Amino acid sequence: MSKRSKFLIYWLCFALLQIVSVFAMEEDLSFYGPANRGFSSIYTLPFKKDKQGLQNGYFKIDLNRSIAPGCASFDYEKIYNLATSHGETIRLPASISNGVKLNISTFAIANLTLESYRSLGIEVSPSVKLVPFYEGCKNGERNAFYRRTGRNGGEGEINFCFSQGFTPAKIFDVVSHEAAHAILDALQPRYHKNGGGHPIGAFHEAFGDLSTLFASIRLASFQYQSPSHKNRKIASMIRAEEEVCLAPGLSGNGTCLLRKENSDLCEDHRNSVPFRSFFLRCMNKELERNMALKRSEKKTAEEIVHFFQGLLVHTVQNVPDFESLYDFSYKMIGFVESSPLSMLMRKELKKLRIDLERCKACT
Ligand SMILES: [Zn+2]
Repeated sequence: MSKRSKFLIYWLCFALLQIVSVFAMEEDLSFYGPANRGFSSIYTLPFKKDKQGLQNGYFKIDLNRSIAPGCASFDYEKIYNLATSHGETIRLPASISNGVKLNISTFAIANLTLESYRSLGIEVSPSVKLVPFYEGCKNGERNAFYRRTGRNGGEGEINFCFSQGFTPAKIFDVVSHEAAHAILDALQPRYHKNGGGHPIGAFHEAFGDLSTLFASIRLASFQYQSPSHKNRKIASMIRAEEEVCLAPGLSGNGTCLLRKENSDLCEDHRNSVPFRSFFLRCMNKELERNMALKRSEKKTAEEIVHFFQGLLVHTVQNVPDFESLYDFSYKMIGFVESSPLSMLMRKELKKLRIDLERCKACT
């Protein structure tokens, strides 16, 4: 090999390395964590950081300056800029504004939620713009929502309603719940919105709630080094979720935002509760059954969650339509081979039927 071609190869490798380091930076991001589950909120994530802000192949933070305050953008030198609602750009010193922190947090939680699926080998690639400071919500409307804007399932945007100085993009469960709507839309585009009260809408909500747990478990799974410690932590999370509310209220004082049942209101969020509880109960019962097994037959709590998460996705992908949440659940159990586990799930299915009968529009 001539000196010239050797030099060319070195140069090419060097250039490639430069490109990789610019486009696929990996950094520790801290976010507003799942405080009610009590573990740290640091997460390592590869992403691209340029004048467009934070983005990777799946999520990007919207930097539309007209909806400020606190829309932050990054430049190559990691200097943070803050765009005000008047369009001025203020260069920020070393301390990062809350707006920037919030953008980072929202981006990180959405990615963590997606990673809880992709790390199981599930091919799912949503493409979503995140708008943490969305001001277009009507009074008393939803606190956040996913909306498909592209041609394909999973192509859309998530708006977090910003008003009176507060955005629900600050709450772990709200961000992961909304990210999960996009993930489910990508996994099964045929579940795309029906009117409120339809079982498919209710299923979307339950999937969102369950995903907040999956995202938290993903976080715990790499934060706890010792296998026994990790197993105990995940097992306690499974046990607690059945009782404890998901998404502590916006006020932060622990009201159950999504679990609240209002008898006048038979919309998707309420209708999702019976299915979500059924799914959590099955996971919990399987965990209990597992405790009594011989050491060699025992699964870890993480393996149990992964099994159920995989089963949920398998059902979603293979059942493009269903008449009721009972129908969906019945088909889901059909994918489990005959075993003590499938028997246990059938038993819980009976209880689901009773729960669903309480609200006619839930079925
Ligand atoms: Zn929702």
